[in-house]
Amino acid sequence: MLKLLVKNVLNDLNSNLESVSSMIRTKIKSALHTSQPGETIKVCGWVRTRRDSKSGFSFVELNDGSCMANLQIVLDQNVPNYEKLIKDLTTGSSLSVTGKVIESPGKNQRIEIHAEAFDLYGSADAETYPLQKKRHSFEFLREIAHLRPRTNTFGAITRVRNEAATAIHRFFQSRGFIYIQTPIITTSDCEGAGEMFQVTTLNLDRLAQVQTEIDFSQDFFGKRASLTVSGQLEAEIFATSIGDCYTFGPTFRAENSNTTRHLAEFWMIEPEMPFYDLQDNMALAESFVRDVISDVLENCAEDMVFFNQRIDKTTLETLRNITENEFIRISYTEAIEIVKSSGKKFDFPIEWGSDMQSEHERFLTEEHFKQPVIVYNYPKTIKPFYMRCNDDGKTVCAMDVLVPGVGEIIGGSQREERYDILIDRMKEGGLNPEDYWWYTDLRKYGTVPHSGFGLGFERLIQLITSMTNIRDCIPFPRTPKNAEF
Ligand code: ATP
Ligand code: MN
Repeated sequence: MLKLLVKNVLNDLNSNLESVSSMIRTKIKSALHTSQPGETIKVCGWVRTRRDSKSGFSFVELNDGSCMANLQIVLDQNVPNYEKLIKDLTTGSSLSVTGKVIESPGKNQRIEIHAEAFDLYGSADAETYPLQKKRHSFEFLREIAHLRPRTNTFGAITRVRNEAATAIHRFFQSRGFIYIQTPIITTSDCEGAGEMFQVTTLNLDRLAQVQTEIDFSQDFFGKRASLTVSGQLEAEIFATSIGDCYTFGPTFRAENSNTTRHLAEFWMIEPEMPFYDLQDNMALAESFVRDVISDVLENCAEDMVFFNQRIDKTTLETLRNITENEFIRISYTEAIEIVKSSGKKFDFPIEWGSDMQSEHERFLTEEHFKQPVIVYNYPKTIKPFYMRCNDDGKTVCAMDVLVPGVGEIIGGSQREERYDILIDRMKEGGLNPEDYWWYTDLRKYGTVPHSGFGLGFERLIQLITSMTNIRDCIPFPRTPKNAEF
């Protein structure tokens, strides 16, 4: 009899617990938008702050990352175990709450939750938890990249990054572009420069001792292999077979540049289009940047207001200016003229034939035109072999898109489709055309005019969020001497 009673009680208890824990979690974003007073809901997340009132109840600001805003939870003595559990509800602790949705008397929020039961998953020691309620520097937050997504800024960046990535796919998919996955390990160097990370299974410790010339035929791929600096050459293969296509993948550059615009590992979007000339290419690049920004402005409105208020007060104005006005288009020759006759002092001197530095690019877009600028027809001596030679014999069909706050965000070109000229350009650049036999084959068999460009995804995020350092625009930045997490 007693056994049965205990069993029944246990069953009751279990089913009660179950009904609480089996309740489907409502995300805070959806609770704030659609939950109605009187409903009972369950929310889960991390405590941002807790305030205790003298009359024996507590207010908890709960965040679950689904949106910027916190949900206010009111806990009082009626909650089972209140006294015991409340002590541990410190900033950073995690919990699940079930309770009634109440119209909030506060003016900052439409609703709040009056807790009926709560479950503390994990406490967070107030002495050691690094994210106490105060402003932290971005440098400091980089050192705790495992916790920084719990801050308002990095939550917002993460959601904007997600929206931008989705918008990019939407942009291309709606135009019938095919998404191509190009390889990450490569044995060709797209830019003809030595800024690549090598990939090897050779025993480097042993090689360091013997110090002889390295025999790459013994290596995993039988020759020197690296991480890709661009998917372009492979994308050209698909552009000249299935048509308009794009890549969106990780890209690696071993350049030792400690700037606010360079990462060793970044994500690049590279569309490649047959039958496009340089003009078509520029037009696509412009719609691309404008459409993606419009989508983010529309779909991440709350986060964008945050960047405008807390990071840079001109964020929204700059972005609207980009979406509403046409980009300026000038030739490299005109650009150099403007920079030289500006009378402005630059750290690096500039002459026709030299590569524009970031300070020159930013002068053009931020000060002179105050708008995005596309610079085209660069000297062939400063551009890679695959860009199409112009009839003047001096310039190539290159184009860079420059934007305020960042400088170069896109680099692109019409590709050299003429076999003989391409071979000559490779030799000029010190490359062996035989190493690129498959690439030159595309010019031998059914060659077509074609074009493409590369957009650095983190530079786009920099532009959209106004974050000054690109290291804050990727979840886990890789830069010289830095690959923690
Ligand atoms: P920069 O002159 O600014 O170093 P780049 O001319 O070497 O750039 P491209 O080879 O044209 O760059 O690459 C295309 C795009 O990829 C650039 O316009 C930029 O948006 C992005 N990008 C290039 N290098 C980096 C990097 N190290 N980190 C982040 N983004 C990059
Ligand atoms: Mn470039």
